[in-house]
Amino acid sequence: MINITFPDGSVRTYEKGVTGYEIAKSISPRLAEEALAASVKFADDTTAGQGVTYDLDRPIDRDASIALLKWEDEEGKQVFWHSSSHLMAEALEDLYPGVKFGIGPAIENGFYYDVDFADHQVNDADLPKVEKRMLELAREKQTFTRVEVAKADALKHFEDKGDPYKCELISELADGTITYYRNGHFTDLCRGPHLHNTEVIKAVKLTAIAGAYWRGDEKRQQLTRIYGITFPKKSMLDEYLVMLEEAKKRDHRKLGKEMELFTFSSRVGQGLPLWLPRGAVMRLQLENFLRRKQTEHGYLPVVSPHIGSKDLYVTSGHYAKYGQDSFQPIHTPQEGEEYMLKPMNCPHHCEIYRSAPRSYRDLPLRLAEFGTVYRYEQSGELHGLTRVRSFTQDDAHMFVTPDQLKGEFVKVIDLILYVFRIFKFDKFTAQISLRDPLDRTKYIGSDENWEKAERAIIEAADEKGLPAVVEYGEAAFYGPKLDFMVRDAIGRKWQLGTIQVDYNLPDRFQLEYTDTDGSKKRPVMIHRAPFGSIERFTAVLLEHTAGHLPVWLSPDQVKVLPISEKYSDFAKKVCDLLNNSDIRASIDDRNETLGKRIREISLLRVPVIVIIGEKEVAEGTVSVRKEGADAGTMKIDDFPGWLRATIAEELS
Ligand SMILES: [Zn+2]
Ligand SMILES: [Zn+2]
Repeated sequence: MINITFPDGSVRTYEKGVTGYEIAKSISPRLAEEALAASVKFADDTTAGQGVTYDLDRPIDRDASIALLKWEDEEGKQVFWHSSSHLMAEALEDLYPGVKFGIGPAIENGFYYDVDFADHQVNDADLPKVEKRMLELAREKQTFTRVEVAKADALKHFEDKGDPYKCELISELADGTITYYRNGHFTDLCRGPHLHNTEVIKAVKLTAIAGAYWRGDEKRQQLTRIYGITFPKKSMLDEYLVMLEEAKKRDHRKLGKEMELFTFSSRVGQGLPLWLPRGAVMRLQLENFLRRKQTEHGYLPVVSPHIGSKDLYVTSGHYAKYGQDSFQPIHTPQEGEEYMLKPMNCPHHCEIYRSAPRSYRDLPLRLAEFGTVYRYEQSGELHGLTRVRSFTQDDAHMFVTPDQLKGEFVKVIDLILYVFRIFKFDKFTAQISLRDPLDRTKYIGSDENWEKAERAIIEAADEKGLPAVVEYGEAAFYGPKLDFMVRDAIGRKWQLGTIQVDYNLPDRFQLEYTDTDGSKKRPVMIHRAPFGSIERFTAVLLEHTAGHLPVWLSPDQVKVLPISEKYSDFAKKVCDLLNNSDIRASIDDRNETLGKRIREISLLRVPVIVIIGEKEVAEGTVSVRKEGADAGTMKIDDFPGWLRATIAEELS
């Protein structure tokens, strides 16, 4: 008999070789129905990790802690979607005999499979046929069978089948046993895990078809990538499709155009955003918002140039790590003189730290800069403002003593939570990335400092009540970090806000401070960016709000619309009054119908509109509409105060 421990701490005994499915069934038939896989951590596994994901049918042969994974669990979804990619491959093999397969992983929302269709012509119009076949196969209740084979046998199997892609993958695997998964008549080289059977897949949508090079290498075969998503309930698919429609309406590239915020020009260059006047005003508000808060938190502003000597990045290590894949050095007429476009601000800030002798009394030293950086992204990777080649980080670096780490972390978390609150990102999670406990050799910095930093992050997150998960082995080689993930208004996840501890750069730049006892010590560095970059944050914010920015952030806060030219003077008076109170207001008295003007203004998403007619002029009032709803009539002298109160409320 073996002992199985459950997440609530309870322990039950089972026959050796019991499966996750049997365990689920022993608890309740309903759980057996809902469980998709099991997360198993064996008692003899001494690593700090979470254990492994097991098929529900895979025997468990020794004491273990297990958690049954359901659809609601991220890993559960991954198993569901990965199994769906096998199901799709099976359907494709049925419909297009002789097709060959590359790789077919689960992704954040669904799955894909890269397919070599050989002589078959397949396009969008064929996808419904594939969906239908997938559902037919799913209803056959096919089990996913795990088969262990020797490498040589696996290779022979796929050679006989004439599948060069799988053969290539197998030949790269270490010698020994390899696993297959079989469902129906489809066999795939696969590590698993997979579903108990296909019956739980109740709804299928193949979402896109695209070209993809084998192994991402443009010199190799072009395969066809089919993306899809599946659900355990039809209603979930319906909701998902509604969300996709909504996402299309909120696409920041579309909103950016309608709201006249930014543009791109092939002549300027790919991935280099041009901020239009309205966008630049918005951007400035974002910067000022953070600048104010950072000043409260004791940050000091600095400014550094857009290029730096190549030596700077050789010193920082960025050149060795990223040099090949970034913009190449800029040469000057001076022989041997080379500059790089700035890929990060940190090395510049290290030199600012070094510009004066520092003592423990100067720490923490917090240097902040809205620093524009340049990173080469392949043109296929570029996407609106989310993937660009030039962007401005809301960057800051803190130089602290090891003992100040925790306090500083708490303050940065506070700042990030403030940002989330003001922008109404109410749903978020955090991930704490720590060292791999099994291999400490790949990290730089002393054990003692790492322990201090890891403890500082965990305690700070705890103190702030963050919903955080700890991931071992996810830390960078130079330090542990804390990342935030937010969910937007339509449920999509975005990574926003990173806090990163760094022992590497202070070492490389030989940074020092004089401690209380007069000795020289190395400070620790923290990198942090609540927005990440102004560009990416703008994209996320536009999609989160569907372009309905708060009044304080809107480029045009108020539009004043006289019904006809007769009332233009009064409209101008209202406008002046607002401008004198630092409200961004302008008149639209073009010779167009009121309806047409309102339609155009609504595309710009101006939050507050006032319409001036005879009654308003006679009574000295304004009728205010906010976000399309009636906000009442008020005396014009009361209007600036009302707007200021609205803004104060938004920022509180
Ligand atoms: Zn697989
Ligand atoms: Zn940095």
